[in-house]
Amino acid sequence: MSRPQYHVAIIGAGLGGLAAAIGISRAGHKVTIIEQAAVLGEIGAGIQIPPNSSRILKRWGLLPKVEEVSVRPREFVLRSYRDGAVLSKQNMVPYAVEKYGVPYLHVHRADYHKILVDEAQRSGVQIQLGSTVTSIDFEKPSVFIRDKPEFEVDIVIGADGLKSRCREKLLGKPDPPKLTGDLAYRIVVSREDMLKHENLVDLAENPAINYWMGPEAHAVCYLLKGGGLYNIVLICPDNLPEMVNTAKADVREMNEFFAKWDPRLRTLLSIVKETSKWRLQNSEEMKTWSHPSGKFALMGDACHATLPYLAQGAAMAVEDGAVLGALMEKIEHRSQLKDVLVIYERLRKERTTRVVKRSTALRETFHLPDGERQAERDRQLLEEEPFEDYPNRWADPVFQPFLFAYDAHAEVEQAWEVYKKGAFPGTYGQFRANL
Ligand SMILES: Cc1cc2nc3c(=O)[nH]c(=O)nc-3n(C[C@H](O)[C@H](O)[C@H](O)COP(=O)(O)OP(=O)(O)OC[C@H]3O[C@@H](n4cnc5c(N)ncnc54)[C@H](O)[C@@H]3O)c2cc1C
Repeated sequence: MSRPQYHVAIIGAGLGGLAAAIGISRAGHKVTIIEQAAVLGEIGAGIQIPPNSSRILKRWGLLPKVEEVSVRPREFVLRSYRDGAVLSKQNMVPYAVEKYGVPYLHVHRADYHKILVDEAQRSGVQIQLGSTVTSIDFEKPSVFIRDKPEFEVDIVIGADGLKSRCREKLLGKPDPPKLTGDLAYRIVVSREDMLKHENLVDLAENPAINYWMGPEAHAVCYLLKGGGLYNIVLICPDNLPEMVNTAKADVREMNEFFAKWDPRLRTLLSIVKETSKWRLQNSEEMKTWSHPSGKFALMGDACHATLPYLAQGAAMAVEDGAVLGALMEKIEHRSQLKDVLVIYERLRKERTTRVVKRSTALRETFHLPDGERQAERDRQLLEEEPFEDYPNRWADPVFQPFLFAYDAHAEVEQAWEVYKKGAFPGTYGQFRANL
């Protein structure tokens, strides 16, 4: 049976928008990405690709390309801030492949983004750069782009990130991102510079994800680019001036904050020449991600921006894209377009909300001040076998498979079976009532 083809506009060429574009164009539809930036790219830092995301890359045949520019961390290591003492470990090599069938990866964002852009373009996706979306007609649907003609399509997907214009249009009111109280220093140093210091050789040579947990702050470090670069993220209380979300930072101020931390981390920070601060913001759970017209839905940070403490924000956006693509592959008739967006939200909202809430909760676990609760956290990590809600979330026997075993395509297969049997009520109104 020949399947209908629709034209989908995706607003935003971030990792999420690109994933949706790949998924939807693989399903045989026409896709146009509308991106405000004049040049495509990502910021110069690392990103973790967990198995729930590498499974999607594998399905799309992109895993070998991503692996070529990635590092496979051997383990998660949780450390005390004072002396770097190891409190807990979770193996990833060979564990991730043995248990989940796909690896855990670290990659430079620019490399990851480029692989997705190349794949999107190879599969026929049009990317319109320098195009800022100012408004959306949800009924037609169409997109209004500054200084350009109105753009009419069959479906619009809002993938425009944390400060989403699309979200505000859907809500019909301003909805600025929410402060979380934390900021991140994002830093990349060279392995060469690390090897000049004897106490950094181990960090530079052993691929691991190292976390240091301390009062009000934590540090996350891992290797990138075949081990040639070391990615450092330092989280601490937000002291950026109001309305400033990113700024060049004072290296001395950064070093002072961590002055009482593990000497090895201090040596590492002593080689940092420049850095910037990023305010960490998120968004509140929305009642719904889609418009009653059934022709518009949000995805990625635009509807579930999270603190990055579980390293799952982009992974969630890529999952959204894969689910949208797999659903669009199932469509047999125009009347199902509405249902597809409802099933999409049904499949995605609960999971992403859980991840956002767990990421927020991890802030408290990581940032405990010295005292009884911190001592109990450390005792559990050192002495107890992992249990549900264990402080090392990557070792949590319930939460780890919830995160890593998720198979976006299998979820769609199951949901479509249920839909075809009529177990999801057949009309859009009934669908929404059940959300
Ligand atoms: C410090 C830090 C570390 C992180 N680490 C990880 C990690 O290890 N693993 C992980 O999975 N996630 C991580 N994340 C989260 C991840 O970066 C985000 O969740 C992800 O990049 C969101 O992708 P997106 O495509 O939804 O949005 P974005 O990447 O924000 O993309 C939105 C796009 O829309 C465009 N746009 C915006 N407005 C308009 C408009 N009006 N018109 C047209 N275009 C527009 C923007 O230019 C942009 O290209 C981290 C985040 C931070 C802050």
